[in-house]
Amino acid sequence: MSQQARCYVEISRSRIAANYRAVRDAVAPGSSVICVVKANAYGHGAVEVARVLRNEGAEWFAVSSVDEGIALRHGGIMCRILVMAGIMPWEREALRDYRLTPVLHSLDDMAALDVGGGCGAGCRCVEALDVHLKIDTGMDRLGTLASAKEIAEAAAAHPAIRIEGLLSHFASPTDFTSEQTPDQIRAFSTMVRDLADLGVRPSILHFSSTNAIAYPRSGTTFDGVTSLVRPGHAIYGYVSPTRGPAPQAVFSVEPALSWKARIVAVKDVPAGAKIGYGGSFVAPGPMRIGVIAAGYADGVPHRLSNKGRVIAGGRYAAILGTVSMDLTTIDLTQAPHLSPGDEVTLLGSEGDVSLDAQQIAKTAGTISYNVLCGISARVKRFYVD
Ligand SMILES: *Cc1c(COP(=O)(O)O)cnc(C)c1O
Repeated sequence: MSQQARCYVEISRSRIAANYRAVRDAVAPGSSVICVVKANAYGHGAVEVARVLRNEGAEWFAVSSVDEGIALRHGGIMCRILVMAGIMPWEREALRDYRLTPVLHSLDDMAALDVGGGCGAGCRCVEALDVHLKIDTGMDRLGTLASAKEIAEAAAAHPAIRIEGLLSHFASPTDFTSEQTPDQIRAFSTMVRDLADLGVRPSILHFSSTNAIAYPRSGTTFDGVTSLVRPGHAIYGYVSPTRGPAPQAVFSVEPALSWKARIVAVKDVPAGAKIGYGGSFVAPGPMRIGVIAAGYADGVPHRLSNKGRVIAGGRYAAILGTVSMDLTTIDLTQAPHLSPGDEVTLLGSEGDVSLDAQQIAKTAGTISYNVLCGISARVKRFYVD
């Protein structure tokens, strides 16, 4: 691969498709997949990724905001789209205009979206809006803490809102030393049963994202309804490591994105040379250094300063000094054949040497999600088969 760009990522469509199939084939028969493509598909390009997944048969997508949903519609994605992270007052009309399905996080949200019809209780002159209601089962972020009785009363009071789906979200699905996940599952099952007793029976239930799909727990699929799962990270090729007595992951996926930058300059510096801002790296002997066209404005974590590495000429090459806005300096002493215009790999592989987002994140003191989402808009995206 080689593209005309200073700094670019290549995304493998076939890898995205294979990762999707791996997840889909691993979930219980009767379950189906909501593909999470929020945050520009974790930096991979939401429209491009959604097209690939739609062509594989995906019927549901999830995004964070109405704007992200509209971007998919403009990209020709006509599947169901769930908006997970809240609806602002000025976005309510767009839900209907673009046929987006909101996740509601409180009973007030339900009232706010009930545009009614103004001609009496039960008026149906505006088609009912399908919504998914999120239950806070113990993550204490989004989701309602209302009781089943309160939810059932609100549902009855707002006939223009139809609770099509019920969901929750796990806080610690990789942690097998904690009771938090089984507690959350119990709370959700109780809510589903209590609501059913009160006549509220959503046809779709969903709970698990990547890690809860990879390391399954019992009680996360439901009889008599459609069970969905909501993977994001797995589609891009990642599953997080576990704690405690965890089972083996039930599927395997591989990173779909690789990240490259060109060498801008190469030079030989003498012992004692102080490299970059602050002179924080001092050459212990004569060295060959390369300056590459990627910095923190492209998403290279500043915390990789003097700690991270890239792959240059098929070998690891250390980052020297501080990462600057547009440039990063690396050690080319072991790759003396490289010259300006050649490319190095920030994330990906050359031969059997590889670097993935989890390794980079560990060095930078962050998480792989943050590394992927941090690859900035000015880094050109190229798609390959
Ligand atoms: C981001 C998100 C997901 C996907 O999480 P992954 O760990 O990337 O699979 C699922 N559900 C909700 C509510 C989310 O915010």
